[in-house]
Amino acid sequence: MLLNPNIPTGPLSEKWDSCRFSSKLVSPANRRKYEIIVVGTGLAGASAAATLGELGYNVKAFCLQDSPRRAHSIAAQGGINAAKNYQNDGDSVMRLFYDTIKGGDFRSREANVYRLAQVSNAIIDHCVAQGVPFAREYGGLLANRSFGGAQVSRTFYARGQTGQQLLLGAYSALMRQAGSRSSRAAS
Ligand SMILES: Cc1cc2nc3c(=O)[nH]c(=O)nc-3n(C[C@H](O)[C@H](O)[C@H](O)COP(=O)(O)OP(=O)(O)OC[C@H]3O[C@@H](n4cnc5c(N)ncnc54)[C@H](O)[C@@H]3O)c2cc1C
Repeated sequence: MLLNPNIPTGPLSEKWDSCRFSSKLVSPANRRKYEIIVVGTGLAGASAAATLGELGYNVKAFCLQDSPRRAHSIAAQGGINAAKNYQNDGDSVMRLFYDTIKGGDFRSREANVYRLAQVSNAIIDHCVAQGVPFAREYGGLLANRSFGGAQVSRTFYARGQTGQQLLLGAYSALMRQAGSRSSRAAS
C-alpha cells in the first residue's frame, strides 16, 4: 500500500482534513496483514507505533538507545503548546499557527504547522489520559505559562521534565502494545 506523503492541495485549514477523508480506509480485519516499520522511538515514533499497534497493524519499532524512553525527546524541558485558550487571553488555532511559523523563522511547512495547531488540544487531552503529570493550578485545573516569547499562556508543562514525562506516557502506550502482542502470540 502506497501512502502519498506530499502536502495535500486545498485551502490551508482543510488540507489534512480533506486528505484524511479522501484516503482509503483499511478494514480492521485486514490491518494485521500489514507490517509497518517505525524508525526511532522519540515522541513521534513511539506515539505512531503505539497508535498503529492499537489500530491492529503489525508494527516493528526500532531504536538506537538502550531503551525506547531514552530518545532525544527527553531533552525537551519547557513544555508543549496547545491553543486551549484556558487563560482567555486571545489564543486560537490561527494564533498558535502564526506564532509557530514565526518562531521557526518562516521556514516550516505551513500545512503541517497548521495541522499541529489544529490537533494541539487533542494532544494535551491524550497525554493527560496517558497519565502525564502536567502542572496544575491549586484548584486542580491544568496550569499554563507563557513560553518562548509568546504573548499568550498556552504552554502545558511538567516542571522542567516535560519531554521526559511525555516520553514516559508514549513509552507506556508502546509497551502496552508490545505486551498485548506477545501475549497474543503466545496464546
Ligand atoms: C534541549 C531541547 C529542548 C527542547 N525543548 C522543547 C520544548 O520545551 N517544547 C517543545 O515543544 N519542543 C522542545 N524541543 C524540541 C522537541 O524535543 C523535538 O522537536 C521533539 O522531541 C522531536 O521528537 P521526535 O520524536 O521527532 O525526535 P527524537 O526524540 O529525536 O526521536 C528520534 C529518534 O530516532 C532515533 N533514530 C534516528 N535514526 C535512527 C535509526 N537509523 N535507527 C534507529 N533509530 C534512529 C534517534 O536516536 C532518536 O531517538 C527541545 C529540543 C531540545 C533538544
